[in-house]
Order: sequence, then C-alpha cells, then structure tokens
Amino acid sequence: MKKIAIIGFGAASIGFLKGLQEEEKIDNYKIDIYEKGENLEGAGFGGLKYDGKLFISKEMGGDLVIPLNIQKKVVEYYLTKSGLAKFDKNKKLELSNKLEKGDSFENGELYKKFYDADFEPVRSHFFHLGTDLLIETVKNIFDEFSKFNNINFLFGEEVIKVIPGPEVVVATNSGSEKNYDKVVVAVGRRGHKLVSDMVKDHPDLVLSNDKVDLGVRFELPNHIVDYLNKEMYEFKIRLKTKTGYIVRTFCNNPGGEVTLESYDDFLTVNGHANTTKKTANTNFAILVTHSFTQPFNDPVGYGSYIAKLSNILTGGDKVILQCYEDFKSSKRTKKLGRVEPTLDPKHFILGDLNLALPRRTIESIIDFLERLETVVKGVTYPDNLLYGAEVKFYANKINNDFFENVKIIGDCSGWTRSITYATSHGYLIAKEF
Ligand SMILES: Cc1cc2nc3c(=O)[nH]c(=O)nc-3n(C[C@H](O)[C@H](O)[C@H](O)COP(=O)(O)OP(=O)(O)OC[C@H]3O[C@@H](n4cnc5c(N)ncnc54)[C@H](O)[C@@H]3O)c2cc1C
Repeated sequence: MKKIAIIGFGAASIGFLKGLQEEEKIDNYKIDIYEKGENLEGAGFGGLKYDGKLFISKEMGGDLVIPLNIQKKVVEYYLTKSGLAKFDKNKKLELSNKLEKGDSFENGELYKKFYDADFEPVRSHFFHLGTDLLIETVKNIFDEFSKFNNINFLFGEEVIKVIPGPEVVVATNSGSEKNYDKVVVAVGRRGHKLVSDMVKDHPDLVLSNDKVDLGVRFELPNHIVDYLNKEMYEFKIRLKTKTGYIVRTFCNNPGGEVTLESYDDFLTVNGHANTTKKTANTNFAILVTHSFTQPFNDPVGYGSYIAKLSNILTGGDKVILQCYEDFKSSKRTKKLGRVEPTLDPKHFILGDLNLALPRRTIESIIDFLERLETVVKGVTYPDNLLYGAEVKFYANKINNDFFENVKIIGDCSGWTRSITYATSHGYLIAKEF
C-alpha cells in the first residue's frame, strides 16, 4: 500500500480527501494527516473557523479555472455537513430557511448604479454558514474521514521540512521523520514558511511572485449599508482609482465583528460574522493591489514590513484604529464618534494609519471611499472606522508540474484565496493522483 502524507487539515485537504473518496482511491493508500493545531478546535482553519462564506463564482476566489459544477459540488458538500441543507430522496438539495444566501449584483438596477459610478461589480452566488456553525461542520467532516482505518490524523504535529526525492521525507517539530511515496502540502496562508523553505531549495518551483494587497478593515453602522446587505449580503466591487491602483472590497460582514489575524511575528486585522449573534455594525476590507516589477521579488516581505510598522506604532501587540475624518487629514484619532468598535479595546490603539501605510495606498483608499459615497450615502461619515493594517498575501504561484510526487495545493500554492477554490483545488488534484 502506498503511503501519502497530507500536511495541514484545512479546506484544500478536505477537498483532496473528498476527491480521493469519490474516485474510490482512498482505500489504496495509507494516509497520515499532519495538523499543527493541537486538536480539531485548535487547528488554524481560517475561513473554515471564522465566518464561512461559501462562494460560487468565476470572478473571485483564486486564479485557477474551476468549473462551476465542481464549485457547486464543493459548496453543497459543506452545506450538507453543516446541517443547513440535505438531499431529498430524488437527490435534490433542500436548503434550510435559516441559511443566509444570495446573489451579488443580481439586481440589475443596483448593478447599473455601481457601474455608472465607474465601479466594476463582481458577480457571485454565495451562502453564509457563520462562525458558530463552522465548528460543527468541520467536526462532521472530520468524523467522516476519521472512520477510515487507513487514515491517521496527527494533531499537534507541525511539519518543519519536506524534502522531495524518490521517497519524500517529512520532518516535524517533535523530531519525527518519515518517508512517503507522495506528499500533499496544504498548509494555507499561515503555513507559508514551509513552502518558502521549499522554494529556497528549488527556486524553479515558483512561476510568478509580484503582488500584495494592502489596506484597512472599514467599519460602519449597519443602517448605512442595510439595503446592500439585504440585497446581496456580500458586495464586491473594484475600482481603478486616480492613483492608477485597483482598489476592491473584500469579505463584507453585516452585523459582524472585526478581529485580529495573528502571524508568527505580526498582527493584522480581519472580520467575521456569526449566524445568530449580530452586532450593530458592518465591516469589510478595502484593499489596494500593489504589483511590482523586477528586481523586486519579495511581496510577502513588503506586506509584512507594513504590518509590523503599524504594530510598532501601537506598542507591539495591537492594531491601529482611526476615524475616517482623521484618516483623510492625517491626524491621530484621539476620540471616537458615534460608531462603537466591535474589536475589543484591548486589541487597538487610537492612532494614525498615515504613519504606516504608503501615501499612494492612502490616496487610493480615500479616492475609493469618496467615489463610493456617490452610490452609498454615509460611507464617508467622519466617525466611520478604519482598522489597520489589513494585508492579503498572494503566495508564490507554484508550478505543480515541478515535482511528480509532491503537490502544493490551496492558498499556500498561490492559486486560491477562498474556501471554495482551495477545496476544489484539492478535489481536482486528487482526481489526477
Ligand atoms: C479570518 C479569515 C476569514 C476568512 N473567511 C473566509 C470566508 O468567509 N470565505 C472564504 O471563502 N474564505 C475565507 N477565508 C479564506 C479561506 O480561509 C482560505 O482561502 C482557505 O481556508 C484556504 O484553504 P487551505 O486549505 O489552503 O488553508 P487552511 O484552510 O488555512 O488550512 C491550512 C491548515 O494547515 C495547517 N498548517 C499550517 N502550517 C502547518 C505545518 N507546518 N504543519 C502542519 N499543519 C500546518 C493549519 O493549521 C491549517 O489547519 C478567510 C480567511 C481568514 C484568515
């Protein structure tokens, strides 16, 4: 029996296991799954731990071409595992009325309104599971695969080295070192170090590497964006701003909360929403895409420095919070207005994001918001909140033809940025395995 190691138990590995199962290949292998989280709850599941918005879209989620029928299959899998949907006896999917769902920009009038103001509205079909239901969903998936005698989950085992060769060596922080016939690396964005180390040893593993998204998490009262939230829950738009940079919204959370995202050596911001426990605010990311040219070759380094700079200004382990009026005039915020932050005050310092973000980034964000005001009245109220920095890394784009017996899938491959795309990536790789 051939031996496989899967590194990480997140969206991409779930898709990979599902793909092996569907191809009826799962029994052909002895599979070890290494997960650095101490247990299922402790595992760093990103969007499978917080929020859980499932998108079906050709326009967002990653740079792979994933057929819509595969995306639909993946989303249906999560929905059934969450208990919010089930197949009836005719194999038709029945959705619970508790499930939040919708189509972004299905409403033609709204589409036109944004389009006429120069925005590019992004279409997608989506479902929202919510942070509270995700734990149950992932547990149901784990229960399904842990029933297999040939699958061995190794929680609390962080893989520190993968050495490709005819037999691939997998070494962990506990000192274990084992050989495998094939290895699937699915460590997500947070596991980027493992992939970076592989790239150091094999530079041709990378196809391209020149982008990073820098920006803020924006928070405002629900009532300002209520009609948008009701219409489509997730509103995604892009705009080419006067600086020439493209700015986009990302991860809209109606009634949501702003959260911290912690990396090994810095903190950034993020957001999520629960299924039931709602707040009075909506938050979303405003991200400015920075693309560089030669000799620049370190977008992760650049983004990390900006995040670290914003942490330094707060004394180290906090993020910066600023009101929009102060952000525009580059003044430190000393007092908040009517909008109560949803991030716990122990995690932020009132400050000035202008001291951390580059000028062109700031100008792009201001131009974006001022133009958005012409479509969404109230978005530029002086006391709306900006948290920073929010940074989205595009991992190195990996050439998966480089090694025959090592595949790098999901967000750490640089090809995906969402649950649906990462899961589908794993699912498709399993089919060719
Ligand atoms: C706060 C947050 C909210 C998000 N919300 C959404 C959303 O609503 N909808 C959406 O589509 N996307 C969302 N995303 C993005 C989404 O989570 C990712 O695109 C997706 O989970 C990527 O899947 P993956 O399998 O590549 O990585 P992950 O799901 O992150 O899984 C990687 C796994 O590998 C483990 N790991 C890492 N390094 C090692 C190592 N060295 N050894 C062993 N194990 C390791 C990690 O602990 C983790 O469990 C969100 C991300 C974050 C951070």
